Amino acid sequence: MKPTEKVSALLGAKGAEVFSIHPTATVFEAIARMAEKGVGALLVLDEGRLAGIVSERDYTRKVILMGRSSKEERVEEIMTANVVTCAPDETVEEAMRIMTENRIRHLPVVENGRVAGVVSIGDLVKWTISAQEETIAHLTSYIAGSY
Ligand code: AMP
Repeated sequence: MKPTEKVSALLGAKGAEVFSIHPTATVFEAIARMAEKGVGALLVLDEGRLAGIVSERDYTRKVILMGRSSKEERVEEIMTANVVTCAPDETVEEAMRIMTENRIRHLPVVENGRVAGVVSIGDLVKWTISAQEETIAHLTSYIAGSY
């Protein structure tokens, strides 16, 4: 595990399952699905096409704060349609940079126009910590002369 490894390696380790919802579903249905799957965002798919992304932050800011009703509002009304994505051959480091620059915590991985998975900031942090632990273990045994 290294930060210079590709996002495809991370997806291989964590799985490529994608949790999604239809644009015309209600916001309530989206939040219920996020809770059921234990995630903070869903891809919005319309007949397989990536139409947007909706996260808990959209719900808190565009529904609760605005005094709107989650059972009446549709996902398409609060989702972000302009989705930032990355390719599977981009590095974990690069994916982290894209997320930080765009202030987002979820990044769909797209290959040949098809969604190949989603990585979250949590996945990237976990990967980076494991990479650092591996480096420390190597250096420790090197210093101790057990190489
Ligand atoms: P998040 O940090 O993922 O909870 O999302 C914060 C805001 O960015 C919300 O308005 C999301 O709809 C939006 N967002 C999250 N991920 C992406 C993404 N990959 N591309 C574009 N917008 C995103």
